[in-house]
Amino acid sequence: PPLVAEHGPARILALCNQKGGVGKTTSTINLGAALAEFGRRVLLVDFDPQGALSVGLGIQPHHLDRTIYNVLMERDTTVEETVLRTCVPDMDLLPSNIDLSAAEVQLVAEVGREQTLGRTLRPVIDNYDYILIDCQPSLGLLTVNALAAAHGVLIPLECEFFSLRGVALLIDTIEKVRERLNPDLEITGILATMYDPRTLHSREVMARVVEAFGEIVFDTVINRTVRFPETTVAGEPITSWAPRSGGAKAYRALAREVIAR
Ligand code: ADP
Ligand code: MG
Repeated sequence: PPLVAEHGPARILALCNQKGGVGKTTSTINLGAALAEFGRRVLLVDFDPQGALSVGLGIQPHHLDRTIYNVLMERDTTVEETVLRTCVPDMDLLPSNIDLSAAEVQLVAEVGREQTLGRTLRPVIDNYDYILIDCQPSLGLLTVNALAAAHGVLIPLECEFFSLRGVALLIDTIEKVRERLNPDLEITGILATMYDPRTLHSREVMARVVEAFGEIVFDTVINRTVRFPETTVAGEPITSWAPRSGGAKAYRALAREVIAR
């Protein structure tokens, strides 16, 4: 993809699916790293109290003094003083840990509670080209905040028989957020993950996904490989840990599609 001469304002993408284990966190790390390889400035937002995104980048979030929780809940804590540099040049991380689960409860009483993340990110939007939000596996208030802050949603979908269950509910939530909070919100794309090209089952699920959702399904498909769990242990994106692997190539192809959309 062509390089950019000037950076920002960022396009904010939420990686969202209320089902766990479908590749949200893995896709956030590796799409982010691939976008950074293409010269984009990237901020990854860990928006799951489990902190898996932070751990996947080699950070132990439970010992941090400042996380996204403080930025959301305290007026005098800024994103700029909370972000961490990662092993990938031009890719920053806004970390999270279990504290974030308290925010979900505390935000309920706030005015403009659904727009808290959007307000929080506004001061840094010109510093980045992409802000990727790794959502927790639920459709609760934190996820609604991510959808209200985003320009687009990227839905990772596991190539398993039951994966289509629940997507209707997710799309329904996206539509409600669009009507009530964020009229510009769009579905950037559906990403098939955990694809096993050797099984008829994977191919059948993929065919059903394309039949159901058509053009919004990315051409790029992420194969199932143990390399991804291995990168989590390594605390690095696959693009730097195994730069010539199929997985690294796939996330670069996805980054090209995201830039083109
Ligand atoms: P989510 O964030 O949706 O819960 P993760 O990205 O954490 O999902 O992935 C769940 C587990 O599956 C992790 O252990 C991860 O390493 C592994 N994983 C992710 N993508 C793949 C893949 N394409 N092939 C094999 N394992 C994967
Ligand atoms: Mg996750």
